[in-house]
Amino acid sequence: MGSRILKSGNNQITTKYSIGHKAVDLVKYRSQLDTIVAHSDGTVTFCQTGKKNNKLAVGNASYGNCVKIDHGNGYATLYAHLALVYVKNGQKVKKGQEIGTMGNTGRSFGAHLHFEVRQNDSRIDPTPYLEADLPTVVPSVTYRAYTTKWLPKITDYNQQNTSGYAGVRSKNMTALQAVPSVGILRYRVHLLKEKRWLPWVENDADYAGNKGEQIDAVQMQLIDAEGYEIRYRVSSKKGWHGWCEGLTDKTGDGYAGVFGKAVDRIQMAIVRKES
Ligand SMILES: [Zn+2]
Repeated sequence: MGSRILKSGNNQITTKYSIGHKAVDLVKYRSQLDTIVAHSDGTVTFCQTGKKNNKLAVGNASYGNCVKIDHGNGYATLYAHLALVYVKNGQKVKKGQEIGTMGNTGRSFGAHLHFEVRQNDSRIDPTPYLEADLPTVVPSVTYRAYTTKWLPKITDYNQQNTSGYAGVRSKNMTALQAVPSVGILRYRVHLLKEKRWLPWVENDADYAGNKGEQIDAVQMQLIDAEGYEIRYRVSSKKGWHGWCEGLTDKTGDGYAGVFGKAVDRIQMAIVRKES
């Protein structure tokens, strides 16, 4: 059987995934040792070194010398019982890069690799990913509009449904709330009558708007979501106005909407940044 986390590309499973062992244990084919390589690109977020074999070890110590790599989008891989460790905490690694060698450190009964795949830090069955890429998570944004009450939440997916919108045609939207599945969304709205921007808000900790007061423009920015940006547009009685990506739009104003035209609906999606 093949495996992309061993340098030889060839492995033998010695302990399968089960409820009691949410990992797979591997050796190289014919019970030999091997060098361990990173499953996918990512960042080392946990790196434990200097451990000896200790069969009674508990907690993190039971992993012995151990490396955990965060691959973004909620997935991480973990490699335990290593003899040598070649990487440091915080280091960026590439798929196939050597990260250490198979060993017998921590709570281990013979040299092997203990390999975990974690989704949002809960351990899932790694077997399907021994040779395959981790799933691609498509980021999304969930949002809702306030007219005289909060309307149902809408979720728009990247490259999929952009026909959905929050709000009601020809009814003033007077507040807005949005939360992305990746990063932090900063947003603010401009009041039509008072001709001023309200303070920025972040995610669903608050909402943007003064309930009951007309909005004529919206500004948004997605931060801490490497490679992604927020795409949005608003409509008024005139129809839909131009799309914005973050603080970029065709007119260079950096906001969605037209001053003096009351906003009734909004559309949002998370998109991959160009370049
Ligand atoms: Zn194990």
